[in-house]
Amino acid sequence: MSSLPSPAVSIAQAVRSGGLPMTQPANEALARIRAASSLNAVLSEVDPSEQLQALEGRLGSGEALPLAGVPVIIKDNLNLRGTVTSCASGMLAEYRSPYTATAVQRLMDAGAVIVAKANLDEFAMGSSTENSAFGPTLNPWGEGRVPGGSSGGSAAAIAARLAPLTVGSDTGGSVRQPAALCGVYGLKPTYGRISRSGLVAYASSLDTVAPFALSAADLALMMGVMSGQDPLDATSLQTSADFSAEPLDLAGLRVGLVTQGKRGATLGVLSALEAMQTTLETAGAEVEETSLPHLDNAVATYYVIAMAEASSNLSRFDGMHYARRTGEGGATETMIQSRETFLGAEVQKRIMLGTFILSSGYSERYYTKALQVRRLIADEFTQAFERFDVLLMPTSPFPAFRLGERSGDPLAMYAADVNTVAVNLAGIPALNVPAGFEELDGQRLPVGLQFAARAGDDTRLVALAATLEGLGAVQLEVPLGYQEFGV
Ligand code: GLN
Repeated sequence: MSSLPSPAVSIAQAVRSGGLPMTQPANEALARIRAASSLNAVLSEVDPSEQLQALEGRLGSGEALPLAGVPVIIKDNLNLRGTVTSCASGMLAEYRSPYTATAVQRLMDAGAVIVAKANLDEFAMGSSTENSAFGPTLNPWGEGRVPGGSSGGSAAAIAARLAPLTVGSDTGGSVRQPAALCGVYGLKPTYGRISRSGLVAYASSLDTVAPFALSAADLALMMGVMSGQDPLDATSLQTSADFSAEPLDLAGLRVGLVTQGKRGATLGVLSALEAMQTTLETAGAEVEETSLPHLDNAVATYYVIAMAEASSNLSRFDGMHYARRTGEGGATETMIQSRETFLGAEVQKRIMLGTFILSSGYSERYYTKALQVRRLIADEFTQAFERFDVLLMPTSPFPAFRLGERSGDPLAMYAADVNTVAVNLAGIPALNVPAGFEELDGQRLPVGLQFAARAGDDTRLVALAATLEGLGAVQLEVPLGYQEFGV
């Protein structure tokens, strides 16, 4: 057996070492958030004093908490009792959560301190965070560039080291793609691994709560804390998983390099892919190219299913049953005016398309067909995992694009998701690994690679990340003008 690299270091735990007062990291995060307000990564701050008080009490009574005092920023589609959970929508701009999402509660139970709610594309619909009702988030790596989306606020926040850990949601790539564009880890877990209770639903059969991190050790920590069965989410998995950042032996690991993943990729993305292949092979892995032809239909299939589910999930936001109301006249008139006024263009478009897709006469042609193709895609992955332990492809074909560059052309925007959506359709886990940089127009921009594994095998992806860190194949740099957290 080859000698294994030593386990990775946890940034989150380093933040707590050195005997600083428990309040220090949270205050540091809040100071950084204010100093970096021009990024527009954060929509609202959370006053940490109550959480810190409770924490002092628990530590005083001898509880050992793995995330004691670690500041965390959560995407603003996750409920935290007493805070505004806007989903970056005018519709919910005044909505205060009456309860806390299970994943967020578990972080706090482990000692984490929630300090802010992060910007996103409205209701998590988008790939650039330009669809936020509160203005776009900027990418700390390049002036005028998007951070990706829809969890662009959480991705930009951790990339700029505003907090050592952040949380997003991934329905079709919304954590992996912004992680790639911002140069950090983003892990989309197996569907059901982390409870969706308290995550505002976009497309329920695809939605996952998903962490961003700066080390494999932190991924293991966060996954260990957030995952597990939850009686409040009937789709949460019964089986548990033991997350660790103990590296794997790569000797004999079978890696499938997905041919379709190379389409449309920039030179920088292709060269990061080649470098990763070399690293893996040198460490003893067997890398073989493999074609998954059904991936060509993934974007179309995903958008049919996601819009259909969104139209149903968002029907409650009508100003009558729920959310903000405007307009005069009867109930129908009020609902129409409320939705027209408070929902953004992308959300309105998706509700209309989703309603059309589900309408009688068309649902067989579009929705039923999409469900059939979804099955084919899932089966294709299952077959691939008979031959391979993990699959490798770029997370995004290109690095961060410019603000406005794709927002006028929905198909160009959806192309950002070409490598990520199939993973959600199949319900399998996948991880973005920050794997290099590409120079574009004088800006040095991060490039990310995606490893996918069979359903339930999330732990392997975390261990793989730890291995790659040990081999120097992970490039987690701090963007110019920002500083590693805790220094
Ligand atoms: N970009 C995809 C969409 O707009 C994925 C979004 C997500 O994962 N929430 O639907």
